Amino acid sequence: MKEETWDYSIFWKEAMNHIREELSEQEWIMWFSNMEYHKSGGSSITVRVPSTFYRDQVQQRYLKLIESKLAEISGHKLSLEFFIQKKDETEKAADAAKTGPNSPGQAPPDREKSERPDKDAVWRQKSGLNGAYNFDQYVIGENNTLAVNASIAIANNPGSAYNPCLIYGGVGLGKTHLIQAIGNSAHEKHPDLKIVYVTAETFTNEFINAIQNKKTHIFKNKYRSADILLIDDIHFFADGKKESTQEELFHTFNALYDANKQMVFTCDRPALELKELTDRLRSRFARGLNADLQPPSFEIRAAILKKKLQQKNAVLSDDVIHFICSSITSNVRDLEAALLRLIAYSELVKKEITLDIAREQLKDNFSSQKAANISINTILRAVADYFNMSQSDIKGKRRNKAVVLPRQIAMYITRELTEFSTTEIGLEFGGRDHTTVMHACQRVESYLTTNPTLEPTIRSLIRTIKSQGGG
Ligand code: ADP
Ligand code: MG
Repeated sequence: MKEETWDYSIFWKEAMNHIREELSEQEWIMWFSNMEYHKSGGSSITVRVPSTFYRDQVQQRYLKLIESKLAEISGHKLSLEFFIQKKDETEKAADAAKTGPNSPGQAPPDREKSERPDKDAVWRQKSGLNGAYNFDQYVIGENNTLAVNASIAIANNPGSAYNPCLIYGGVGLGKTHLIQAIGNSAHEKHPDLKIVYVTAETFTNEFINAIQNKKTHIFKNKYRSADILLIDDIHFFADGKKESTQEELFHTFNALYDANKQMVFTCDRPALELKELTDRLRSRFARGLNADLQPPSFEIRAAILKKKLQQKNAVLSDDVIHFICSSITSNVRDLEAALLRLIAYSELVKKEITLDIAREQLKDNFSSQKAANISINTILRAVADYFNMSQSDIKGKRRNKAVVLPRQIAMYITRELTEFSTTEIGLEFGGRDHTTVMHACQRVESYLTTNPTLEPTIRSLIRTIKSQGGG
């Protein structure tokens, strides 16, 4: 039988044309211009990218977008695969192909190497931890000394000194990194301990599912048998509607506390300020150590950048580092986003990043600084236009999917671009409670990590809004 051959290059081209129209020129050049069609399989398209870094970034940001375009255009599902080949290797491969067989261009795709899960990866998946978050990669400074030292002590001797421990601080200041580092380091030192990391949101969802499926015994067993329980973002529980989850958590807490098991929580504010929590649960969180993470000083920001550069095997000159640290002061996540952007750009154009390039590239860096004088009306108008609905839909009471996400996005952008408090934003958005606004922002943040098509959407909205300003 003749072997079937496929050629989906036409779909690829067409999908790229569509995507190009939707993105800004800068974004297109950065992420798409260096990706080339390579070959087609039965239900896949393989594209050539210049590095694993590039592949990971494209996967994270655009995989869903590309695959959905391909499906739209071709009428069936085509998955995207990556073939990593540096530019100069492409040229070498072409030369070798001319002169003889054994062309290095036939090297197997990179993914085959990384597909065998090791024992540690299995453990990690079970525990919920990401191995990249460890103490070695965490910069200590006067903004976080107590929190980091307590965390190290906890990982060394869980269940003894600081129990429970609550780490609190604003968005992007390193809470998740730190609480996960406790888990990873504790696992290294005490491989027999059962460590469970979970976000408050996942805890809540698992609990609700357990009730629906009559499996609460499995849920209880998972959490009450932990030697170290790490719960991230407990402000998520602070919502009058989550009473039964709070109740369950209260009992989990007591069971673990009585058994001297270690518990660590993170929160966006001190426990005592969690007004919507039942008194007894709030007092449990306030017990033990409460340690805060403050925004890092200029020097610490620079130290963090250098650490991240090292980790990514990249180099930036001191004046560029200086520039990034002085323009991005709000939080470490934004700092890192700026860095990634520059590294990607430099890989792409194969040039060192100069101060001018950095300025140009970071010009509209996502949410770096609050823009002056942007009115909520401008935001409402832009979001309503974008999603083709009316401003009163966005402010209104309807709760169907089609309006909820735009509403949440509008709240998120307001929080990012203005100085209004969550209470003020709630009032402007149809008299909603401040916890609704907080929840909306958290939802959007978590979508941003799971849905790569959202970030370009929000970025383009922010550009439109900034260009319109107040009024
Ligand atoms: P949070 O959970 O508080 O919102 P994250 O833990 O997700 O913040 O941190 C955001 C990013 O900043 C992560 O990539 C993290 O590694 C990095 N980061 C924050 N603080 C530090 C630090 N002190 N040293 C190194 N990296 C940091
Ligand atoms: Mg976090």
